[in-house]
Amino acid sequence: MEPAEPQLSLENVPCNLCGGNDTVLHYRGRDTRFETTPRMEFEVHRCRRCGLIFLNPRPTGASLGLFYPDSYNVYNQPIEEPEPTGRGGLAGLNDRLWRRIAGMKLREKQRLITQYCPQPGRLLDVGCASGKFLAAMKTVGWDIAGLEMSALAVERARQALGPVVEQGTLETAPWPENSFDVVTLFHVLEHVPDPVGALRRIRWLLRPGGIVVVLVPNGASWEFRVLGQRDSNPLEIPRHFYHYTPATLRGLASKADLEVLKIKPFSWNVTPRLTGVLQHRLQKWSPSSSAGRAMRSLGMLGAWGVGMAMATVTGQLAGKGPGFYLVARKRTVV
Ligand SMILES: [Zn+2]
Repeated sequence: MEPAEPQLSLENVPCNLCGGNDTVLHYRGRDTRFETTPRMEFEVHRCRRCGLIFLNPRPTGASLGLFYPDSYNVYNQPIEEPEPTGRGGLAGLNDRLWRRIAGMKLREKQRLITQYCPQPGRLLDVGCASGKFLAAMKTVGWDIAGLEMSALAVERARQALGPVVEQGTLETAPWPENSFDVVTLFHVLEHVPDPVGALRRIRWLLRPGGIVVVLVPNGASWEFRVLGQRDSNPLEIPRHFYHYTPATLRGLASKADLEVLKIKPFSWNVTPRLTGVLQHRLQKWSPSSSAGRAMRSLGMLGAWGVGMAMATVTGQLAGKGPGFYLVARKRTVV
């Protein structure tokens, strides 16, 4: 028998950081990406007391499946970067540049980890999707484990990495206390219903002195502020339950009794909407010659470059770029 389709149900929640209920409406928007509930608007509120920005009311755990279709892109990401295509000319240049960018994104994460944990140890990637990051860490000597909610993604990850990937959430995670030197959550914490609970559970899974590395979109981003009311796409409503700022994420980590070591802008992100609009225009153009198609590919890369430049300037100079990392440690002495 087919499992029953989940029904939409909503719940109201207090602020996860201060427990308050005094909020002000920040944005209103729909799921413009997957159109899962085309007529339904969700509200994003900001806590007046502590500034935490969160979806409220929000889908209950039982109805979350509605908002994560199997086409959700990270579930289908290939483990390996594509092989060099061997194409020449502009197209080949474009291929090589994209490969190089993917490599630089990965190395930024690896550098951040080895800054605090220089020797390879045991690493858990929470929300590991199809296991791309874990595969890369395995090749540089780490003992890896993964946790993922999507059955489809777990199946793909297990095909590539073996039985080290578990299906479930942090509450059901099977590993004992003090299991890991590093826990990573890349674009995951904004999806969890109870971030303080998740961070406490991660603290429990970490060895004393172990670190957690979190990467999230930036709720203080200038683009969210400017476009939030007109275009909810970058907000990923209703999949993103929280829109953290450096200050609110720091507060949540401290509440979970983690010692915050670093907050750092993500260097390899673009301002999503600006880049999206430029790339969308280029996609409408369908040139007939191969030179034209190569020009279009380079144009896509140029649009990425424009978004990248905006993200770098706003992120590095003002802390208002599209994403940021937080690194925190489980204290060795309580
Ligand atoms: Zn609050």
